[in-house]
Amino acid sequence: MTYEPVIGLEVHVQLATASKLFCGCPTTFGAPPNSQTCPVCLGLPGVLPVLNQRAFELGIRVAVALECRVAETMKFDRKQYFYPDLPKGYQISQYDRPLAHDGHLDVAVNGAMKPVRIHRAHLEEDAGKLLHDPNEPFSYVDFNRAGIPLLEIVTEPDLRLPEEAYAYLVELKAILRALGVSNCNMEEGSLRCDANISLRPAGASALGPKVEIKNLNSFKAVKDALGFEIERQQRAIEGRQTIVQETRLWNARAPATEPMRSKEEASDYRYFPEPDLVPFRIDAPAVEAARRALPELPAQHRQRLAETYGLSAYDAGVLAQSRALGALFEQAVAQYPKPKPVANWIMGDLLGYLNAHGQDPDTAAFQPAWLAHLLQALDGGAISGRTAKALFVESLERQRDPQELMQERDVRQIVDAGELERLVDAVVAEHQKSVADYQKGKANALMFLVGKCMERARGQANPQQLRTILERKLTISREAAL
Ligand code: ADP
Ligand code: MG
Ligand code: ZN
Repeated sequence: MTYEPVIGLEVHVQLATASKLFCGCPTTFGAPPNSQTCPVCLGLPGVLPVLNQRAFELGIRVAVALECRVAETMKFDRKQYFYPDLPKGYQISQYDRPLAHDGHLDVAVNGAMKPVRIHRAHLEEDAGKLLHDPNEPFSYVDFNRAGIPLLEIVTEPDLRLPEEAYAYLVELKAILRALGVSNCNMEEGSLRCDANISLRPAGASALGPKVEIKNLNSFKAVKDALGFEIERQQRAIEGRQTIVQETRLWNARAPATEPMRSKEEASDYRYFPEPDLVPFRIDAPAVEAARRALPELPAQHRQRLAETYGLSAYDAGVLAQSRALGALFEQAVAQYPKPKPVANWIMGDLLGYLNAHGQDPDTAAFQPAWLAHLLQALDGGAISGRTAKALFVESLERQRDPQELMQERDVRQIVDAGELERLVDAVVAEHQKSVADYQKGKANALMFLVGKCMERARGQANPQQLRTILERKLTISREAAL
């Protein structure tokens, strides 16, 4: 019997507000411990929470982008659990009246579109952070994070493969970034994901008991942990063990998931309405306005690039990865109207350089005009392909326009026909063996001779032009010899 994996994801996004969800404390990351706290987020008696309007607006923005139905009335609830990172002994979250529900997101996986239904999206406050020092017999707690606004986005159990979960997360992150609602920085915990997974016999419609995996600090960890868990559950079922509903932790070093606790039920949290916050009526025209104000989303961006510039779906996907990269492409094409070479240089040379230097395409300082100037020079035969590559890297390193660099150093290609002829003659005279090889039919010998000519020209010649001259000369000399 074969088993089908069933996966659902819960993503927590830290909303990019200046202040916390229910108080005025700042949200800046990395401040000294407990420097950004007040009686509200510390849960001192006698204080009242007030909803941050901006967090609410950012939540609505995400909800409409994910095509959710926004609630007419939303309310907050207390979720009780006792843990030292939770100053009040409960978290203000949303239980039965979340901000939004029933949305969806289409995700491309291996060239096919996979529809993923969004179950709900709700607002809640973050907890503090515990710091465990192995050299101390106690732990520290930092409440700077307590009360920071989170939006929890929960899918229906529609995903089937670890790759689908990965693709969903990549797409969701791209959307969140396009919306400007979060910096989505996983290292700083601005984006966190819990993965739920169960197996069921192929063809069955009932869901099996699920395991929730926590401690997933990268998208790759999500994929790896799900892959591991599918195999573990399959072995367990085949060994006639029952799968227990539980929470497990991903240990990337093992690599394995390890039991953390038996899964709590909603009733364990004793949810009840937050009496300090009234239910909120959400204005339909405001939701409509948010929908109209949506920026171009990644899927639309990809489609527009592909259609407008005749790019492949793959190329459009790479360029639309970041707004900045897409804009760079379009601006460069506006000045040098050949989309394919512009795309190739951005995807190959620029991204290669940025990756190698750990730079983010969104913040890289590279001007579209620089690429346009370089490609114009290359096209006009003023520089060789090799010189163009070198100039490109140099323009990135020194933050200069390649045109200026060319003028400064007079890196021109030798375009003077007489000069090229003399150069080829000299190489032919020096490499008679290769000339003979070529004439006997060894095509490689020609490439060798072109290489020698390039060396002699110190890279400042057009290899195609050299090749043409060489071919002509060698054919003539061969005919003469016959
Ligand atoms: P809980 O109350 O335990 O948090 P939810 O019903 O809220 O569970 O679901 C949490 C996530 O788990 C959702 O993304 C949902 O799609 C997914 N999920 C629910 N049941 C299963 C299951 N049997 N197998 C896999 N995923 C599931
Ligand atoms: Mg849950
Ligand atoms: Zn506060």
